[in-house]
Amino acid sequence: MAAGRLWGVGVGPGDPELVTVKAARLIGAAEVIAYHCARHGRSNARRCAAPYLRGDQIEEQLVYPITVETTDHPGGYRGALDDFYAEAAARLAAHLDAGRDVVVLAEGDPFFYGSYMHLHERLAHRYRTEVVAGVTSMAAAAAALGRPLVERDEVLTVLPGTLAPEQLARRLADTDAAAVLKLGRTFTAVRDAAETAGVLDRLHYVERVSSDAQRAEPLASVDPASVPYFSLALLPSPLAASTMDREAVAQRQPSTGHGEVVVVGLGPAGRPWLTPEVQEALAGASDLVGYGPYLDRVPPNARQRRHPSDNRVEAERAAYALDLAHAGARVAVVSSGDPGVFAMASAVLEVACEPRWKDVPVRVLPGLTAAQAVASRVGAPLGHDYCVLSLSDRLKPWDVIASRLASAAAADLVLAIYNPASRSRTWQVAAARDLLLEHRAPDTPVVLGRDVGGAGERITVLRLAELDPSLVDMRTLLLVGSSQTRLVERGDGNRVVFTPRRYPA
Ligand code: SAH
Repeated sequence: MAAGRLWGVGVGPGDPELVTVKAARLIGAAEVIAYHCARHGRSNARRCAAPYLRGDQIEEQLVYPITVETTDHPGGYRGALDDFYAEAAARLAAHLDAGRDVVVLAEGDPFFYGSYMHLHERLAHRYRTEVVAGVTSMAAAAAALGRPLVERDEVLTVLPGTLAPEQLARRLADTDAAAVLKLGRTFTAVRDAAETAGVLDRLHYVERVSSDAQRAEPLASVDPASVPYFSLALLPSPLAASTMDREAVAQRQPSTGHGEVVVVGLGPAGRPWLTPEVQEALAGASDLVGYGPYLDRVPPNARQRRHPSDNRVEAERAAYALDLAHAGARVAVVSSGDPGVFAMASAVLEVACEPRWKDVPVRVLPGLTAAQAVASRVGAPLGHDYCVLSLSDRLKPWDVIASRLASAAAADLVLAIYNPASRSRTWQVAAARDLLLEHRAPDTPVVLGRDVGGAGERITVLRLAELDPSLVDMRTLLLVGSSQTRLVERGDGNRVVFTPRRYPA
């Protein structure tokens, strides 16, 4: 009797519609379907193939011995795996010897880091064997992102995340496009290598690509603890990226042919408060303009020019950014928090409205403002009507500030006070406190949020009468409650501050 045939069949990355017509036909025809799976018996490959199974076929589950834990096998983990593959090959050989065709399901493509290869090595020389190519996770990831992988004479490098970090960094620095597979516990090493190579901001993270559980986001913003093995990092074609971005800009501004200025907010501190939209704009910029310490919060990229400045002369900075854009640059002007809150957006627009720059496109992308971040740390002090005010008398006279403070206090608004002090402005906090005390009870709750989200974060809750200027610096935001704002100690000993939704009639 003739022996059966062995098929190594790629079933694609997850979506059953990405199984090839040939694979589907073979899966439906074989007498034996084999697939690798973990102890719990679930198999991604089988899930891809499920719609094409007949239901009356013999299924051979090849259950991995263990994954990474230690083993008491004399040959160590390697030895245990060798035994496992030898035993799996013997099980399949028995079917083949009995004349049964065997399809081994392989996730993605069988010859692309697939476990199928271990069976192929052991069986292909003994039985008629054919391998059916599958759609790789790498190809599916590029498709999912809508980003070309390589074009013209660009080089694509495929890397296992298990490489040594120096090797990863060297290879990433030396290629145009890349796919890094086997992420899981290698994630942090891969991210660090990408940072060393200067490509972190171009790197995309894609998990369980093409399945219902697909997740894709900029790799820099991914929490390492959340990364499963079924994920990869993709560095798409830089050439395609620049053409696509150019086209996107051209579509928005068909007539000018100029560069553009994007004014972005980085949030009050840290990656978690940086929006994906802003990250993308930063990644697409050729030039970064902003106050030095804010620019320092953007990971360096050798491709980009940085133009740090001090935090005064906003108009000059705006004019500089507009000039760069006029000459064709894609300029990101960075602010902390939201760019529209005591920051660069108005400054840029004011200058951009001068005739000389009237054709330079300007976009503003929002960020989380400090008041929201500080408020969230204590509860919901901004839960009702509130007023946002800068205590700096650099750009407006103190008289105006004093009268606005008094009006807001008289209107019983909660106050969010930005720029309360600086090295040279030291008396304003006490003056503001005394003014407010004319309208507010001495025990009105006040929240001081310093460097919220940053390394120097400090939250202080006190009574208005206790507001001491020595507690306040330029990295502090003040929230002053209304007559309704409550400070309550809860069961766990934590104090919360909130302003009720309802105002008494
Ligand atoms: N555009 C920024 C505000 C710029 S004005 C925003 O939307 O948040 C600068 C003031 O913002 C500081 O003096 C301080 O009052 C406040 N601020 C900014 N970041 C802060 C942070 N992380 N913690 C507390 N206050 C902050």
